[in-house]
Amino acid sequence: AKSRGKNRYVFYTQDMTDTIFRASKLDTEMKRAIERDEFIVYYQPQIDLQTGGVVGIEALVRWNDPIKGMIPPNAFIPRAEENRMIIPLGEMVMKKALSQLKVWQDEKLFKGRMAINISGIQMEEENFVEKIETLRQGIGVDASSIELEMTESYIMTKAASSIAMLQELKQLGFSISVDDFGTGYSSLSYLKQLPLDKLKIDRSFIKDLPDDMEDRAILRAIVSLAQGLGLDVLAEGVEEEEQKLFLLENGCLMAQGFLFAKPMSAQACEEYLRQN
Ligand code: C2E
Ligand code: CA
Ligand code: CA
Ligand code: CA
Repeated sequence: AKSRGKNRYVFYTQDMTDTIFRASKLDTEMKRAIERDEFIVYYQPQIDLQTGGVVGIEALVRWNDPIKGMIPPNAFIPRAEENRMIIPLGEMVMKKALSQLKVWQDEKLFKGRMAINISGIQMEEENFVEKIETLRQGIGVDASSIELEMTESYIMTKAASSIAMLQELKQLGFSISVDDFGTGYSSLSYLKQLPLDKLKIDRSFIKDLPDDMEDRAILRAIVSLAQGLGLDVLAEGVEEEEQKLFLLENGCLMAQGFLFAKPMSAQACEEYLRQN
C-alpha cells in the first residue's frame, strides 16, 4: 500500500499492478514499433452491389511484429488512444494509405475513395485539419478521393464542438462517413446538421440478416433515414450471399465484407483491383 497524505492509502492489488505493468510494456513496444516502422496498412474493398465494382477501399492498420506476427488493431488501438500514440500512428496510416492511393490512381487501377479511420483523439488536436490538408497536398491526391471514417459515438458526443471542424473538412472537399452506425446514440438533429456523406451500418445489424425480423426492420429504417437525409449507406461485414441479396432488395447498394474480400496487403489488393 502506498501512502497518500495522512490517513489515505491507495491499495494496488496484484491485478492492478499486472495491468499497469502490461500497459507500460505495451507502450514501450509500440514506441519502438513506430520507430522501426512495423505498422503496415491493409486494404479492404467496398463494393457497389449493382455493378460489382470497387467504389472504395478502407485502410486498416496492422502491427507486423517480427516475433509475434500480425497483431490486429483491437489489441493496440485502445491503448494507443490512451497514451496518445494514436496521433503519430494515425498520421503514419494516412501517409501510407494516401501514397498507395496515388499509386493506384496513377496506374488507373482505382477511381473510388480511400477511407481512413480517424480516432477522436486525432480530431481533438488543434491543427488536425491543417495536418491532413498539408499531407494531402504533399502527396498530390484530391480531397474528393478521401473519406474520413469517424465513429458514431465520437461524432455524436462531440457534435457540438466538432461541427466547425467537420464543415472545414467538407469545404476542403473531404467526405465524412459515420462508422459503426447504429451502435452509438445518434441524435437526429445532429444527423441533420452535420455535414455527413455516408452511414456505415455496423456489422452487428448485418450478421443475422435476412433471418432476424428485428434486424430486417432496423436495416430498412436506416436505409430510409439515409435516403431521406440524402446520405449514402454502406453495410459492413457482409459474409453471405443472402445478406447481399437482402441489401440489394432493400436499397442498401454498397457493402464491404468477407463475401467480397478480406482486408489484404497492398500487393494483394492491387492484384484484386487488376482482376475486378
Ligand atoms: P472498423 O473500422 O469497424 O473496421 C471493420 C472491421 O471489420 C475490420 O477489422 C475488418 O477486418 C472487419 N471485417 C470486415 N469485413 C468483415 C466480415 O465480413 N466479417 C467480419 N467478421 N469482420 C469483417 P480490423 O481490421 O481488425 O479493425 C478493427 C477496428 O480497429 C476497426 O473497426 C477500427 O475501429 C480500428 N482500426 C483499424 N485501423 C485503424 C486505424 O488506422 N485508425 C484507427 N483509429 N482505428 C483503426
Ligand atoms: Ca472503419
Ligand atoms: Ca465499422
Ligand atoms: Ca430476433
